[in-house]
Amino acid sequence: MINDNITRRKFIRNAGIATAGITLASPLAGNAARFLKTDDPVTVGQIMDKFIAEVGVALFPTVDTLKSGSPDTVVTGVLTTMFATIDMIRKAIDLGANFIIAHEPTFYNHEDNTDWLKNDDVYQYKADLLKQHNIAVWRNHDYIHRHKPDGVTKAQLEQLEWTQYADKDIPNILTLPGSSLKGLVGHLKQKLNIQMVRYVGEPGQECKRVLFMPGAPGGMRQIQGIQKVKPDVLVCGELSEWETAEYVRDAQAKGDKLSLVVLGHIASEEWGSQFMLEWMNRNFPSIKTTHISPGNSLKFM
Ligand SMILES: [Zn+2]
Repeated sequence: MINDNITRRKFIRNAGIATAGITLASPLAGNAARFLKTDDPVTVGQIMDKFIAEVGVALFPTVDTLKSGSPDTVVTGVLTTMFATIDMIRKAIDLGANFIIAHEPTFYNHEDNTDWLKNDDVYQYKADLLKQHNIAVWRNHDYIHRHKPDGVTKAQLEQLEWTQYADKDIPNILTLPGSSLKGLVGHLKQKLNIQMVRYVGEPGQECKRVLFMPGAPGGMRQIQGIQKVKPDVLVCGELSEWETAEYVRDAQAKGDKLSLVVLGHIASEEWGSQFMLEWMNRNFPSIKTTHISPGNSLKFM
């Protein structure tokens, strides 16, 4: 588990190797990769180290720890996904994959603290399933967002065919050719395969300047983003209804041309797991990697 001291020490050790690796001229010259031939067995720790070395900084503290399994496990296959749900773990088992690279927590809180879940049946079932099948789960959240470019934003913009409209320095700020809020929402739904979005605004309002904030950065960051960027529309993943949605409602009442579109957390970031699939295929082509979306946990009726 994340709180196991041995695992933590190993993780720090692995992170240390990665830091040493980035001082060398080529990432391929890093300690972890130096003696690797394509058909050599690859461990969980080597894949983590390689990604961390590419990001170029070993973060501490970070939520990007192993939630299950060991860095020494030899990888039989990889599944990339937003959430290591029980369904995704079963898919990994079917695929013969023993390493899941997930973007979000496994155990229902940001730090994956499990002390409060020790007697919980759902937690126990999931932890046992992972243990029985010797499956490692790594949360790659802080690192993929620190990657240059941010792997999640890059992949989402590509899927939306918005890359050419993104600001060179801050790709979350976009200048679109211009469309109504209704047209923008139609595009988002179609490209990201979303059944419904929630929004605040007038469907006919022109939306050119877009602030795109995938995931759930919190109300304060979303509102500070609006203050700085002054977008026509904030397109976000997830929000607390009592924060950003109320701010945008008040801004509208005051007379501002500001809209809000809430995509849902998974739809706003899922393509980051496609980025990880492509990264695996480039860096570890001998390992069979599969990307599966867990889909939205919440249904509409
Ligand atoms: Zn994220």
